[in-house]
Amino acid sequence: MQLKSLLGYTGNMLDRADHLRRDSAAIHAARMHPAARFLILDDLKPMMTEGGRELFWARRSECPEGQQIFLGLDAEGEPRFAVDGKPDDDLPCVATDARTAGAVLADGRAAIVAQARSILDWHRRHGFCASCGAPTRSEKAGYSRQCDNCGAEHFPRVDPVVIMLAEKDDMALVGRGPRFPAGFFSALAGFVEPGESLEEAVTRELHEETGLRVHSVRYGASQPWPFPSSLMMGAFAKADGFELILDESEIAEARWVSREEVRAALRGEGSWSAPPPLAIAHWLLQSWAQQP
Ligand SMILES: [Zn+2]
Repeated sequence: MQLKSLLGYTGNMLDRADHLRRDSAAIHAARMHPAARFLILDDLKPMMTEGGRELFWARRSECPEGQQIFLGLDAEGEPRFAVDGKPDDDLPCVATDARTAGAVLADGRAAIVAQARSILDWHRRHGFCASCGAPTRSEKAGYSRQCDNCGAEHFPRVDPVVIMLAEKDDMALVGRGPRFPAGFFSALAGFVEPGESLEEAVTRELHEETGLRVHSVRYGASQPWPFPSSLMMGAFAKADGFELILDESEIAEARWVSREEVRAALRGEGSWSAPPPLAIAHWLLQSWAQQP
């Protein structure tokens, strides 16, 4: 399990400085600070430098109008924000798909993209109160929305997803969703439902999608997946048998693969394609393939 540092969208190096969020004077001062920098997301695409290798941090004077959130303080204690808007054409930056940005950026900067994208997307979709229908307004530096009509306070949501490898006798199960490209196989996944544990979600999803009965579910690692706000929780489970009865609306094809086949697929030399390193499914496969 030593590969956790490689998980995509993790390792955010900003101090989220939660204590500042409730202090509107401190947030205002942070915003006006000459060293404050702003990550602009144009239609939820983060702006990167023109070479496409680094995040583009705009000055306040370069910021478009739009929903702002406080991301945190960098290693020097300087404030960082994200803003939902369209930058001026003359800024030397380019809007980049968040998956592309996640794959290019290293050492935790992709995690800043995940934080910014998930929360700004939540603001876009929660302009009205789910309790009474009145307009809501951003509060706590972007970490809540307040309804002034009924008093409800709404918080950014995180949607838990289990993603898992079933294993039996040195074989692991990979599947291909109906929308995946031909030859692309991954770990199976599904949303956790209200009122169940992670272990129960793993067991239920595997049974629904493949007919397998599993036991000994064990947690591996987790990863934020900001499309829009999933938390992927990776697990392994022991299957009782090999026989599959696929739910074809969810799984077009599934197969049992050996550790050697998985290692070849991760090297790009297999008879099937594995998920890229950005995805926790890659980590699950790699972790499993390295076990003795
Ligand atoms: Zn309300």
